[in-house]
Amino acid sequence: MSMRNSCRWGQTFALAAALALAYILAAGSFPGAALADSLSEKQEKAKQVKAQLQANQAELDRLTAALNQAQSQLALVETSIQRNQAELEAAEAELQGYKGILSRRVKAMYMEGNSTTLEVILDSASFDDFLNSYDFMRMIGNYDAGMVDEARRLINTIREKRASLEQSRAQYQSQTNALASQRSAIQAKLAEQQSILNGLDSEIAALVKQQMAPSRSSGGGGGGGGWVVGPVDGLYFPVAGPCSFTNDWGAPRSVGRTHKGCDIMANYGTPCVAITSGTVVQRSGGNAGLYIFLYGDNGHLYYYMHLQGYAASGRVAAGQVIGYVGDTGNARGCPHLHFEFHPNGGAAVNPYPLLKAIYGR
Ligand SMILES: [Zn+2]
Repeated sequence: MSMRNSCRWGQTFALAAALALAYILAAGSFPGAALADSLSEKQEKAKQVKAQLQANQAELDRLTAALNQAQSQLALVETSIQRNQAELEAAEAELQGYKGILSRRVKAMYMEGNSTTLEVILDSASFDDFLNSYDFMRMIGNYDAGMVDEARRLINTIREKRASLEQSRAQYQSQTNALASQRSAIQAKLAEQQSILNGLDSEIAALVKQQMAPSRSSGGGGGGGGWVVGPVDGLYFPVAGPCSFTNDWGAPRSVGRTHKGCDIMANYGTPCVAITSGTVVQRSGGNAGLYIFLYGDNGHLYYYMHLQGYAASGRVAAGQVIGYVGDTGNARGCPHLHFEFHPNGGAAVNPYPLLKAIYGR
């Protein structure tokens, strides 16, 4: 699982200066003093804030990788529990068959006048006790003893399966707990970054514009705030805000499925933008929750899943906000954008190289 390049935030000088101002304002210094700071002091502070943001991002990426790994393990355990359950049911059905044969055999022996048979059965606390009873073994011949051994073997198999099932369940539980704490750590980091970055929005940018040389716009097709990334070869990164993602294509999912996209972890309500111009079709239901098909003018199809809400439908420009990150469908409690790339509208391919190319430069 390779990690993407470090974050782009603060890449331009103007943005770095904005970060410095945000830092000063957030620290509670009075604006007069901040504005009086020399340019070199501001540059130095900008460096510090940038380093802090990069450290946060690196931690966020590490947690995302851990979360993805835990999710994969969880899915594998779930799948093996389902498989064990099916085997258990099959073995139980087989045992029921043997029980039927044995009880018919016992009944026949009773009918033939073996008066102790019924007493043995009545004295046994359970069918298992009955099968293990010395009296019963003495009562039946070699032929029947073989069948009883077979039934015993089945019972043991079922018990082993049951023990293995319980073990899997315990493993599943501890995975879930680890996942939950990792998830909340990621969300806390994202929320923290979101609040830092929200503070850098228009007001700060405008202040910097007044004080410094005109800044280079980092915005794209519009509406995504200051955090639209792109265009790179005409494409915009689908999430416009603090986020983290790893190459989780093909990772195990429950019921033996594998992951057919890339999960971009971001906080609730982070804008999602059109990777390219095209037509948005809104859909909802199932594991995907609220989702969007974006039919790109470039001929490719893109999926945006687990949205909190929609922002556009029909024709959209590249970089335009089309929805918001959420946790609808089976993403409950873990807000992220599940992004899929279907070249020429065909089968999904791993979108990670594409996303990395846009985001990592
Ligand atoms: Zn996903």
